[in-house]
Amino acid sequence: MSNSTASLISKIGFVSQVFEDNQTAAAITGTTFTSIYQEISSSQTQLHFLERLWASWYVYMKNDVLATGLMFFLLHEIMYFGRCLPWYIIDKFGLFRKYKIQPTVIPTDKEQWECLKSVLKSHFIVEALPIWTFHPMCMKLGISVTVPFPDYTTMLKQIAIFLFLEDLWHYVFHRLFHYSIFYKYIHKQHHKYAAPFGLAAEYAHPIEVMALGFGTVGFPIIYAYIFNGLHLFTVCCWVVTRLFQAVDSHSGYDFPWSLNKFLPFWAGAEHHDLHHHYFIGNYASSFRWWDYVMDTESGPVAKAAREKRMKNKTERKVKVN
Ligand SMILES: [Zn+2]
Ligand SMILES: [Zn+2]
Repeated sequence: MSNSTASLISKIGFVSQVFEDNQTAAAITGTTFTSIYQEISSSQTQLHFLERLWASWYVYMKNDVLATGLMFFLLHEIMYFGRCLPWYIIDKFGLFRKYKIQPTVIPTDKEQWECLKSVLKSHFIVEALPIWTFHPMCMKLGISVTVPFPDYTTMLKQIAIFLFLEDLWHYVFHRLFHYSIFYKYIHKQHHKYAAPFGLAAEYAHPIEVMALGFGTVGFPIIYAYIFNGLHLFTVCCWVVTRLFQAVDSHSGYDFPWSLNKFLPFWAGAEHHDLHHHYFIGNYASSFRWWDYVMDTESGPVAKAAREKRMKNKTERKVKVN
């Protein structure tokens, strides 16, 4: 560290690690978020809009631990409830009713309110501590917070890996949660609503939140530990992807333009709604392949196909004997 940087740090007390070098952050004199953003925009012209916002946030906060913790907490709250809001409006005003998977069961305001209170309580109690300890862990694992961000192909590849692994993790543990005491004492809470709605995505027992939540936060941690080369912005994009997937799969609506209509292996609301309706089968979160391979697909169509397969198998056995 140069003498000028050391003297700047001693003057302002802290320099963020958001830039590769210490001098850039230490030289910023602005005190408001807007003035910091303007200073960064004029001196770091190579950065794009989101990178400038990201750097301004870290410089403005003057505390990287707080900056990462608060950013994750706000990201979760804004993206989760922000994504739930359109579904609430659609339910409330009866829009798109012909695309509702279970059209006779509409969540009441009382149900939505009870669900909202429970989810908020869970966010503050279960998720507050891990969020506040995330930055020190990122530093230990070498998860970068510096600008510029990695290129889009690297980010997309990493998010695709996390999607695949989370789906597998979700399949195994969700299926486990349907066994006797696990269901009775833990998973039953999530199945309170046989016709789910957006807000119900995170309505679950704290043990379930932690166990299934590991599928979302655990794999980026393991990835960073083994391979290195992970950026915190990629983790943010992954968390938002996963939040949108979870809320949408609980929305209760299957549109002609839903993703599963274009990607037949994408689960979507149609897949998870059947799970809530029949309490059995369709255990995966994002994709349909594990339920297909493990023969745990839910609903009358899958049940009829399963019975037909079993009947054919028995008939073949009889013929052979
Ligand atoms: Zn379940
Ligand atoms: Zn569910």
